[in-house]
Amino acid sequence: MDPSPPWIAPFFLAHVGCPHRCVFCNQYLIAETASPPSPLEVGEALKALWRSRSPEGKKRRQVAFYGGSFTRMSLARQEAYLDVCRPYVRRGWVDSIRVSTRPDQVSERQLAFLAERSVRTVELGVQSLSDRVLRASRRGHTGKEARDAILRVRAMGLDAGAQIMVGLPEDTGTESLETVEELVGLKPDFVRIYPLLVLRQTELADWMRRGVYTPLGLEEAVSLCARMLERFERASIPVIRVGLQEQGGMGREGGDVMAGPYHPAFGHLVRSALFLKKVVASLPREIQSASTVCLRIHPHDRSLLVGDRRQNLGKIRDVIEDREIRIEEDQGIPRGTVECEIEGQRAKEKGKRDQG
Ligand code: SF4
Repeated sequence: MDPSPPWIAPFFLAHVGCPHRCVFCNQYLIAETASPPSPLEVGEALKALWRSRSPEGKKRRQVAFYGGSFTRMSLARQEAYLDVCRPYVRRGWVDSIRVSTRPDQVSERQLAFLAERSVRTVELGVQSLSDRVLRASRRGHTGKEARDAILRVRAMGLDAGAQIMVGLPEDTGTESLETVEELVGLKPDFVRIYPLLVLRQTELADWMRRGVYTPLGLEEAVSLCARMLERFERASIPVIRVGLQEQGGMGREGGDVMAGPYHPAFGHLVRSALFLKKVVASLPREIQSASTVCLRIHPHDRSLLVGDRRQNLGKIRDVIEDREIRIEEDQGIPRGTVECEIEGQRAKEKGKRDQG
């Protein structure tokens, strides 16, 4: 799969086709108050988008149906949604369609039906591969079903995405790391990592009030996700998103989020925590003789290096004590990596380590 992010025309079909009530989900509330767009409305919206926007320059372009369980809708309903997209695939305005669904709703027949109708990517709500965690979260499917689903989607020649969550009930962090390890072996084409937030009017909110569930703290969630991200990076599995998409002020007082590791830039916190780790690992042993530490990075990585509220720079200063930091931007440095060079009066040393 091409690792560059595709351009996406997104449609959110909240809770559509889903017979479940996972303990953390409030999508049925959204579905109750605002019905999802009908196929006709999706067609109209696509026509308007097509007239106003041209996703030029993007190698991959998709129409995406997020939320709910696409493959659990009736075939006629699925067909109606896919049919309104297909003229745009035929014209080459988008190259394919992406759908999200549950791991227990992707039989070979269901996948063949999608593949024949221009669907190229199937995102699976894996959440965890631990049966204990899945049971406690009332997901209604097993880890085996999720493993089989990823393999089946790939075997059908489609791209498989895996959405996973940290902070689920009964997950001590070990289960999340084990899930990552297993996913590395299963090789999904991409992954999304979400921190579990306690949303209003969910069973989880009730459990929290009764002291049965305690959400992760922000720092804990960031550090756990940074470890997971690092492992996926080492395995060359793209992590296309870390953290939830902000929707309608969900984190504001009175918004949907009651508790949990909410931060509007959660993904940035995670990626900059991992970047800090790489910087510290790149410092050469001979740093004692240096007066200046030069960090060479790709220009787009400056904010990752500096960190939220310049916290990374403060932490790097603590490690290198009273030495100067010089930041050099270099287009030739691969994104997500850092090269460190030290300069001193008594020695001029060069330390370069592959950051992988
Ligand atoms: S399967 Fe998805 S849509 Fe259905 S209840 Fe669970 S999280 Fe919500």
